[in-house]
Amino acid sequence: MTTQSTQSVPTGIVLNIQRYCSHDGPGIRTTVFLKGCSLRCKWCGNPESINQKPELGYDPKLCVGKNKCGLCMQPPFPQGAFYTMNGPDDTIHVNWDLAVQCSEETVALCPTKALYMYGTRMTVDKVLDEVEKDSSFYRSSGGGMTVSGGECMLQPEFTAALLDGAHKRGFNTAIETACNVPWRFIEQVLPHVDTMLHDHKLSIPERHKKWTGVDNTRILDNFKRAYETFPDIDFIARTPLIPGVNADEEHIRAVLAFIRPHKNVIDYELLPYHRFGLGKYEFLGRIYELNDYKSPSPELVQGLQAIIDEAFGRTKTTAAAS
Ligand code: SF4
Repeated sequence: MTTQSTQSVPTGIVLNIQRYCSHDGPGIRTTVFLKGCSLRCKWCGNPESINQKPELGYDPKLCVGKNKCGLCMQPPFPQGAFYTMNGPDDTIHVNWDLAVQCSEETVALCPTKALYMYGTRMTVDKVLDEVEKDSSFYRSSGGGMTVSGGECMLQPEFTAALLDGAHKRGFNTAIETACNVPWRFIEQVLPHVDTMLHDHKLSIPERHKKWTGVDNTRILDNFKRAYETFPDIDFIARTPLIPGVNADEEHIRAVLAFIRPHKNVIDYELLPYHRFGLGKYEFLGRIYELNDYKSPSPELVQGLQAIIDEAFGRTKTTAAAS
């Protein structure tokens, strides 16, 4: 494998680069999470990925309070963005409308890292140099780089340049997408993709709109067009499985009816809903709406997985972890 410096100019807003991922495509992978999403799934476990711009996070558990610090109540922090209530309590509260004016440099002044920025602008080469660090694992496991989000195809030039650069360095490439973007974005990205993991969240357009904010007409059109236009890509369908939303046989069978005529859709994975990371809603000053929803039982997952295995001509039950 040779290392080449890509000449690509595009930069993108990167949320996080996660190493040693084993569920984002074949082998061991490094997953690059980009910021920005065009859906508003009510169950979203990564609310910090929705806004495309870098944004402030505040973890009150790390803050030492006004009496011991109070730095964020003074310039260069925006006036009124951080405040205490009247009385002896010196806990810092955030006015989120004013706090959006905080720059990355200002936020870095917080001595305990109670304030931090989700997302930073990066060049293609900087990302790929990070990805390159685990190239020996990719070679031994058949892995590579996955670009995820948010919705990675909302930054089509950057995503295409990342994937192209990864190919030039000899890495396998994958993306995770919901395809709720114009076809011209998809057309730009997919020539550089080996595996596309794509979400079938709900089958019925009205239910899709209720739970994600948009109906699935464009999404399904894009999936079908992608299957037909890019026959050499391995497509893997996925469903985040949420009891009371889509964890039912009707949805699983509807997805199977959609994907099975396309031989390049090589698998369908279930991602059982979990509640990890919901503390991030508090860090962003937002409210999580699905507090009463539970993870699916192992029996429910196994039953639905058996339907998928039968459709793919397998006998063994193998639900993917989320
Ligand atoms: S600068 Fe950070 S640690 Fe200091 S009061 Fe503000 S949030 Fe708390």
